[in-house]
Amino acid sequence: MAAPWEDVLCNEPAILEAASVAVDAALLEGVLMRTEREPNASDVVNYAPFTLLPSAVPSALFEQAYAVQQDFNLLVDAISQNKEFLERTLASTIKVDDFTARLFRIHMQVLEEGLAQSVFLGINRSDYMFDSGVDGTPALKQIEINTIAASFGGLTSRTAAVHGQVLKVLGKSKEASRLLPNNPSKGLALGIAKAWELYGSQSAVVMFLVEEVQRNIFDQRRVENELWNRNIRVIRKRFRDVFEKGSLDDAKRLYMDGQEVAVVYYREGYVPKNYDQQNWEARLLLERSKAVKCPDIATQLAGTKKVQQELSRPGMLEQLLPGRDEAVARIRATFAGLYSLDVGEEGDKIAARAIADPDRFVLKPQREGGGNNLYGEELKQVLEKIRDSPERTSYILMDKIKPQPARNYLLRAHSPLRVSECISELGIFGVYVRQGKEMVMNKAAGHLLRTKAIEHADGGVAAGVAVLDTPYLV
Ligand code: ADP
Ligand code: MG
Repeated sequence: MAAPWEDVLCNEPAILEAASVAVDAALLEGVLMRTEREPNASDVVNYAPFTLLPSAVPSALFEQAYAVQQDFNLLVDAISQNKEFLERTLASTIKVDDFTARLFRIHMQVLEEGLAQSVFLGINRSDYMFDSGVDGTPALKQIEINTIAASFGGLTSRTAAVHGQVLKVLGKSKEASRLLPNNPSKGLALGIAKAWELYGSQSAVVMFLVEEVQRNIFDQRRVENELWNRNIRVIRKRFRDVFEKGSLDDAKRLYMDGQEVAVVYYREGYVPKNYDQQNWEARLLLERSKAVKCPDIATQLAGTKKVQQELSRPGMLEQLLPGRDEAVARIRATFAGLYSLDVGEEGDKIAARAIADPDRFVLKPQREGGGNNLYGEELKQVLEKIRDSPERTSYILMDKIKPQPARNYLLRAHSPLRVSECISELGIFGVYVRQGKEMVMNKAAGHLLRTKAIEHADGGVAAGVAVLDTPYLV
C-alpha cells in the first residue's frame, strides 16, 4: 500500500524545494499554531507541524471508518443516557481515580437535580490505526473515541490544499487531483449551529470554553469563523471567567457578563490539570445549566477508556443498541482486544500475560491528551508493581496495534529535514444533535490523518509527536 512517490523520497533537491513550497503553502492556507514561547499571542506564529507528503491509506478501510461513524454517534449518545451502565462500568475506576470520580459526582448531582438541558450536541472523533495482520492484510482497529475537545478539525480542513500544491511541484498533478476535499470545521459548525437554533434564542451566544494556554487557537478560530458566517455570535471564555462572571437564572439559563449562552463548546476540561477548586465549581455551574453542553458530562464519561474496554465484552453492544444488529456488527469489527484489570481472576490472568509478553499490549490509564500510555519494558515494570494492588483498576490493557511503516518527511518549525519511518492514525469526526429523545442530526463530518515517526509509541499533535497529514487513498 505504498504511495506512488517512493521515487522522489531520495531526490534531495526536489525534496528541499517541495519542503519550502510546503511551508509557505501551510502559512498561506492558515495551517498555523502559536509558538511555545508566546502561546497566548498571535504576533509571531508558526506553521503547525505536518508531513511533506500525503500518506497512503487503504481506501476500503477509509470507507469502513466513515461507514461506522454514525453508529458510533448513536452508541456514545446511548451510553450518555444510560445511568446504570455508566454507574456499573465506572464503579471500580472511581474508587481509585479521583478525576473520573469527580466528573462522575457532577454527573450524579445533575441527574438528581433533574436535567435542565433538553438539546444535546455531540462532537467526537473516532481514531484508528491500520493493523497489519499475519498475512499483511491491513485491518481497521479503533484506538479510542474522543468525546470531548476533539481537535484539529479546523487546521486539517486546509491540509489537502497544502499537499495538493506539494504534489504538483513534484510533478504529480494527477495524484494531486485525487486528494479528497475535507472540511470538518464546517461539519462541526453545522452541528453547533443546529444546537444553537434548537435552543431557540436569537440573541444567545455560543461560548468556546478554552484553555489558559491557547497555542492551538487557529484550529478553533476556523470553527468560530464558520459560526460568525452564519451570524451566530461566539465568545471565548476560560473556566476562570465562568467562575467569576457566570450565573444561572431561575430557569437555569446560563449568563456570562449578562449575555445568554445557548451552547458551551468545551476545548478544555478533559485532564486533571485543567481544574482547581474554582474550575470544578465553574464546571458544575455549566453542567447544571440549560445551555447545550458539547459534550455534557455524561458524554464525556462515555468516552473514558474504561467504558471503551467494557464495550468489548460479549453482548454489551447489543444491550446498548437493541435492535441494531448491523450497527453492532460494524462497530465490533473495529475493536482490538481490550481487557479489564479489575481485581479478580480475569484481571490476574491478563496481568500475568502482559507481564510475560509486554510487547503485545498497551497499558492505558484513564487519561486523555497523549503521552500517558505505557509500553514494553515500562509496561512490565509498572504492572509488576501494581498487579496485587487495587491501583491496577485505574488502567486498562489493550492489544498493541502494529501498522506497516512508510517513509515520509515530518515538517516542524526549527527542525532539520530528514526522512522518517512513519505510522498514521486516522480519525473520523462525528457530529450529532438530539432534541429530547429525537435524533435530529447524525453525521460523519470529515477526517483527520496524523502521522508520527515509529520511535514514538505515544502522543498526538498537541503533544509535539504526531503531525498533520492528508490521506492518499490506495
Ligand atoms: P489519548 O487519550 O492519550 O490520546 P490514546 O488511546 O489515543 O490516548 O493513545 C495515545 C496514542 O498512543 C495513540 O495516538 C497511538 O499513537 C498510541 N496507541 C494507543 N493505543 C494503541 C494501541 N492499542 N496500539 C498501538 N498504539 C496505540
Ligand atoms: Mg488519542
